[in-house]
Amino acid sequence: MRSHLLNDTTAERYRRTVTEGVERVAAKLATTDRPFTGVTVDALSPHIEKIDLDQPLHDTAAVLDELEDVYLRDAIYFHHPRYLAHLNCPVVIPAVLGEAVLSAVNSSLDTWDQSAGGTLIERKLIDWTNERIGFGPAADGVFTSGGSQSNLQALLLAREEAKTDDTAKLRIFASEVSHFSVKKSAKLLGLGRDAVVTIPVDADKRMQTMALARELERCRHDGLVPMAVVATSGTTDFGSIDPLPEIAELCAQYDTWMHVDAAYGCGLLVSLKRRALLNGIERADSVTVDYHKSFFQPVSSSAVLVRDKATLRHATYHAEYLNPRRMVTERIPNQVDKSLQTTRRFDALKLWMTLRTMGADGIGQLFDEVCDLAEEGWRLLAADPRYDVVVEPRLSTLVYRYIPEAVTDPAEIDRANLYARKALFASGDAVVAGTKVGGRHYLKFTLLNPETTAEDITAVLDLIAGHAEQYLGESLDRVAS
Ligand SMILES: *Cc1c(COP(=O)(O)O)cnc(C)c1O
Repeated sequence: MRSHLLNDTTAERYRRTVTEGVERVAAKLATTDRPFTGVTVDALSPHIEKIDLDQPLHDTAAVLDELEDVYLRDAIYFHHPRYLAHLNCPVVIPAVLGEAVLSAVNSSLDTWDQSAGGTLIERKLIDWTNERIGFGPAADGVFTSGGSQSNLQALLLAREEAKTDDTAKLRIFASEVSHFSVKKSAKLLGLGRDAVVTIPVDADKRMQTMALARELERCRHDGLVPMAVVATSGTTDFGSIDPLPEIAELCAQYDTWMHVDAAYGCGLLVSLKRRALLNGIERADSVTVDYHKSFFQPVSSSAVLVRDKATLRHATYHAEYLNPRRMVTERIPNQVDKSLQTTRRFDALKLWMTLRTMGADGIGQLFDEVCDLAEEGWRLLAADPRYDVVVEPRLSTLVYRYIPEAVTDPAEIDRANLYARKALFASGDAVVAGTKVGGRHYLKFTLLNPETTAEDITAVLDLIAGHAEQYLGESLDRVAS
């Protein structure tokens, strides 16, 4: 069994085993002709259920054969140009190399004595990101597991910096299309049920700052305390960007923490054409970025950044066995002092390898390409009488719905769109997402694959129309019979 431990004597086995696995995946990537096989839960479950975990196979090739059956064959492949659904990106090769290195070395980023160079690499990437944001020299931050954790940590700091200890009085302001992790965070932070005040959006799905101003004033008038305003820079559903300069102004006026949730829009930090869309972000107190969304990094890769490093002390606890207080005066950098996690992956290495190989412009160019494609997709949809499209994209998201000529019942149109999405998924020809707008079912493309073309978009729109028409035809038959 010791031959399975990775060490000096097994280096050759490691090389062989990983190469075997890499070859399977490479072959898979080269031959996937659809983003999905369309397998159902009921069809796939028995393959996994029948495996006896107490009966190991003892052979890599056999385990990989089995993996084909339980995972690789039916996985959803984000690298396929017709995967157009959620905020998942195809990944860049330097980052995948980083992933392989970091798990083999297995550094843990909590303390210097478990990561050494890793700690400094992470800190340099945090500084680099802060410079892109436009924060000053007092800025800091830490890598996290994802945007949800980053938002939680940012709001924790905001709560600790708030002007009252009475958590029942605290209020967070976020738009109606902000991410649900804001509400989840409020719950985890022990705030009241009414803690998150929802601010309406304008026709472009951007927070209405007039409404925000009114709610902040009402909050103060009611003797409550504004704890934070969450501005979303790239809403999950629409890619819309809240007006950062106006929000920053209001935060200053009401002495309130400004958090920018740029989980999606952070790709703009490296964009060659669209960086100005983030103007005002430098006035935030904290920022969430998800490199695993718009920097083409494998999950997980995310960070929370703060304008003033002193605020990170709210996440600091000392343990004698790990990070005793004296280490602070000895200036030994222990990242655990800034993190909600203890043992923590060296995810930063993936971004490091990416920047050292491709450079920031390389990533920015890829993100610009998908934003350009969304603009083209918008023109296609706007010109297509079969479809209603919601907002002109700022980033790379398109929300639309099929509107059959002959049908006026909105509930029937909802059902046709829902049916089309499910039928498309079951066919595996393409994967699209869905959402609700004004209570009605819409479909969504999140374009994060630079390999996707306008022809792909056209083809998928034709497939959707075909499925929707099929549903409506059958529906007519049902009525007739
Ligand atoms: C995806 C997303 C999140 C959550 O990030 P995870 O990495 O999935 O935890 C938060 N905010 C916005 C705007 C997002 O799009």
